[in-house]
Amino acid sequence: MAFPIQRPRRLRRNLSMRALVRETTLAPGDMILPLFFSATAKQAEPIGTMPGVMRLPIGSAAAEAKSCRELGIGGVILFGLPAKKDPEGKAGFDPDGPVPRAIAEMKSAAPELLVMADVCNCEYTDHGHCGVLRKRADGTIDVHNDATLEILAQDALCYARAGVDVVAPSDMMDGRVGALRKALDAEGFDEIAILSYSVKYASGFYGPFREAADCAPQFGDRAGYQMDPANAREALREAALDEEEGADMLMVKPALPYLDIIARLRQQTTLPIGAYNVSGEYAMIKAAAAANMIDERRATLEALTCIRRAGADFILTYHAKDACRWLNP
Ligand SMILES: [Zn+2]
Repeated sequence: MAFPIQRPRRLRRNLSMRALVRETTLAPGDMILPLFFSATAKQAEPIGTMPGVMRLPIGSAAAEAKSCRELGIGGVILFGLPAKKDPEGKAGFDPDGPVPRAIAEMKSAAPELLVMADVCNCEYTDHGHCGVLRKRADGTIDVHNDATLEILAQDALCYARAGVDVVAPSDMMDGRVGALRKALDAEGFDEIAILSYSVKYASGFYGPFREAADCAPQFGDRAGYQMDPANAREALREAALDEEEGADMLMVKPALPYLDIIARLRQQTTLPIGAYNVSGEYAMIKAAAAANMIDERRATLEALTCIRRAGADFILTYHAKDACRWLNP
């Protein structure tokens, strides 16, 4: 029986009715804040393409940890800007590097704060690619998968020794989840979880991040290891392989142009799913709001809620602090 017996508007009549039947929630604990720590910054350095986001000196890690904890944020994920880069990205596993130092500072200032570390080489290689380069027989250059795995494992161990809770490989090398699990377990770090960037697309929405982390590839692009935006079945296959290799949580990156992928992955896996609301998604809202084209608060909370509605359990987002303040007035 339809109209006039059925009137869906009855359930939208007022705030309390809408709150009662709301299907999706968004809470501070659902959000992970990405942070950039620089080995050389003396004070917080603004990032031009990401208004409100800074490159932080290590000395600010403790205060940052406390402020995230006070906001009730779900956790933080750390990226590093080293003092020196080389072809192999050795700075990624230097125990005096920006990420292990920031992990230790944050965990000692706020032991309850969940601290994750991104594991990839592109922040640490002078060529800006996510792994070790090799020259093929025909003279072309690519990223050597298996040699890169050894470096990623050393990075993960370095962050584990510093006290990290979760390592998050973002390089898109084949077999890296299994390689990290094996290396961590061999050193007794069986309690450290792996959040795999399982489904990471070769996306045009990463531009501002590359300025933030100073990691734009010096030649070529990352299409040889990151996924083609046109593919969906491949996403399910990547995620299934990571699950078999021992991933504890899966991630889809970027988020907003890939809500269908999040929803399909939700059907396939029982593991928690994270979605990375990336720098370009953030910059678009910031730029439109600065031009008075949209209401920043409303558009941001809507975007984050819709990522949750698609099936993400948590969201890595540069909006995290603002969103926490809006959700906890
Ligand atoms: Zn990378």
